[in-house]
Amino acid sequence: MKISEILQQDKVTISFEVFPPKKADGFATISAATEAIAQLKPDFMSVTYGAGGGTSEFTVDIADNLQRNYGITMLPHLTCVSSTREHVATMVRKFQERGLENIMALRGDIPDGGSPSQDYHYAYELIQDIKRQGDFCLGGACYPEGHPDTPHKVDDIAHLKDKVDAGLSFLTTQMFFDNNIFYNFLYRIRERGITVPVLAGIMPITNAKQVERAIHLSASNVPQRFRAMVDHFGDRPGAMKQAGIVYASDQIIDLVANGVKHIHVYTMNKPEIAAGILSNLSDIWK
Ligand SMILES: Cc1cc2nc3c(=O)[nH]c(=O)nc-3n(C[C@H](O)[C@H](O)[C@H](O)COP(=O)(O)OP(=O)(O)OC[C@H]3O[C@@H](n4cnc5c(N)ncnc54)[C@H](O)[C@@H]3O)c2cc1C
Repeated sequence: MKISEILQQDKVTISFEVFPPKKADGFATISAATEAIAQLKPDFMSVTYGAGGGTSEFTVDIADNLQRNYGITMLPHLTCVSSTREHVATMVRKFQERGLENIMALRGDIPDGGSPSQDYHYAYELIQDIKRQGDFCLGGACYPEGHPDTPHKVDDIAHLKDKVDAGLSFLTTQMFFDNNIFYNFLYRIRERGITVPVLAGIMPITNAKQVERAIHLSASNVPQRFRAMVDHFGDRPGAMKQAGIVYASDQIIDLVANGVKHIHVYTMNKPEIAAGILSNLSDIWK
């Protein structure tokens, strides 16, 4: 099923993101975790893609397994900045062969020690390429606090508009910890004529070590309430996990109460975290 059809239904949707293993010997463990998450029956799931392409087969295999054997509509990611057009065409063909109709089309970042592609510079070029190759439903990334490569938020939104116009059916945001930043962003992009559905990306922070990396990745402003939670519970793993699940659930409840219909949770391959959030939303998401 195309994700654009799921997003058209008149309901709140919750999707989960998982990541593939880096090496073959991690496949069985990670695959089992993704299967446990699939059994929670989210509206759909996404599988990330290593920007260097190293784990690309695992992205396909995990997406295929969950769609074929668990009946979950899947959204494999694909990045281009370290890829050739030939490699992208091969990946797109593999998605087609496995009946994967949705692709999250991303630029990616150049891995340490890697080199940029001559073929792609930005995600919109990948989107144009995939569109030429088949009838896919495409999603793209957006950044409520601006992408770090483009310090001017106005330029960032202008590039986003061009990217959507290249053929995106929906956008998923980078994680954010303050919903007001998301509301403000939504207002600004709607004003600029970007009308596709926007999935709010929620990252449950359930251990203190994730915090710095998450903040660095997302360039996120961290509300005092969030910092106090990490300061207070950070060195007690059980308490931090509980508090992180509640914080994420609270963010989702506020989003839904303010009319946001689509929530994408970065589950970090942790079934218990995904289940904890859904249990807090049992009468809110059905
Ligand atoms: C929801 C989500 C999922 C992700 N999944 C993955 C994943 O699976 N694997 C992975 O490696 N990474 C992933 N990333 C990270 C992403 O690849 C990086 O953030 C990357 O730096 C940008 O990718 P993009 O597709 O947003 O790029 P783009 O849309 O190309 O934008 C990148 C930057 O270039 C600027 N830009 C765009 N077009 C132009 C133009 N014509 N001229 C000048 N500047 C321009 C934009 O303003 C922005 O600053 C994900 C990010 C998000 C938010």
